[in-house]
Amino acid sequence: MISVEEAISIVLRNAQVFGVESVPLQESAGRFLAEDIHADRNFPPFHRVAMDGIALRKSDFDAGQRIFTIHGIQGAGEPATVCPKGKAIEIMTGAVLPEGADCVIRYEDTEVDGNSRKVNVGSVSMHQNVHQEGSDKRAGEILIEQNTKIGSGEIGILATVGKHSVPVKKMPSVAIISTGNELVEVHQTPLPHQIRRSNVHTLLALLSAYNLTGNEYHLIDDRHMIREKLQDILNRYDVVMLSGAVSKGKYDFLPDVLEELGVVQHFHRVAQRPGKPFWFGSNQNTMVFAFPGNPVSTLACAVRYFTPWLFTSLDLAFKPTKATLKIDVSFKPNLTYFIPVKLENHDGEIYGIPQPGNGSGDLANLTLADGFMELPQGADTYPAGKVFDVYGY
Ligand code: AMP
Ligand code: MG
Repeated sequence: MISVEEAISIVLRNAQVFGVESVPLQESAGRFLAEDIHADRNFPPFHRVAMDGIALRKSDFDAGQRIFTIHGIQGAGEPATVCPKGKAIEIMTGAVLPEGADCVIRYEDTEVDGNSRKVNVGSVSMHQNVHQEGSDKRAGEILIEQNTKIGSGEIGILATVGKHSVPVKKMPSVAIISTGNELVEVHQTPLPHQIRRSNVHTLLALLSAYNLTGNEYHLIDDRHMIREKLQDILNRYDVVMLSGAVSKGKYDFLPDVLEELGVVQHFHRVAQRPGKPFWFGSNQNTMVFAFPGNPVSTLACAVRYFTPWLFTSLDLAFKPTKATLKIDVSFKPNLTYFIPVKLENHDGEIYGIPQPGNGSGDLANLTLADGFMELPQGADTYPAGKVFDVYGY
């Protein structure tokens, strides 16, 4: 049995390269940008009027003029008009500042006076209510850096610079497989000796954070069937994630069958709780993460091993959250303990509050926690106040 440290270093040594692809803008949310995005023009691209009102020349106002004849009206989307000296243009938010004008007085500070408007303010400043051209970003400047995860904010920026097709890191194709004769579908009513299969859904949800869709499969505990179906799946995916059938039970066929199918075992069993029976291997095309079936084990292994593997494969930095253990934890076995913790921010310091639950089968407990805090092997007690890594879910 190897340590968590050895296990993760083997997993990361097996990181792959998946390259780059372009996807339609609307499909890029959640993906990682493959190149820097530059401003295609100044931001804003013209002196943008920021209030509905009247545009005029500050010099006229400063010379004492308060009543301005309305020379014209200009809305957003119209080319710039000219504001003659001594006059004003009625102007709408989003319009280009008229030529000659250099400030905008909002309607609320004016009143109608026949064909003119009277200005009711004591002073005006240059470029008042004008969002000046290039004041946010200059053409050519970097707006979004490579490797940024695309969210709603980035989508708007990409749209603004015309990226209808977005260069993103290519993601691996993933198969997610449950195993076990006791499992029924979510929409089914289990018999007394059955349970619904939940692990595939947990893993699919984990992947969906990166806009990564996995295809799901189920294998019953039949050596022959597993072998046949798995061979086909291995041929078709970059990553195969399995849950269950890797422990010491009579029906835990996976380690043997995987080896028979030419998947080289990199390790089996890690000195950790939960998730000790974790099996990891690969053939030339496919990485195989075979997690123990207990739901807490599956999730702990996925966030501790698969997620860092994915980030490394995408050439992205992966950083677990650092959190301060809130209370003393005692744990006697000589294993790394992934304890579920709730994260709380107290005055800028992040604390992990243990939610140990009833062990690896206690999936109902998962909602009380935000992640697993890694308490490294080699101690019996972990003191409150010490900082540890947390792998969130
Ligand atoms: P195994 O690793 O196959 O021995 O399974 C360990 C425990 O996890 C058993 O109690 C299984 O019933 C349960 N289990 C396995 N797969 C799933 C799954 N997909 N969803 C929920 N529970 C599971
Ligand atoms: Mg099983």
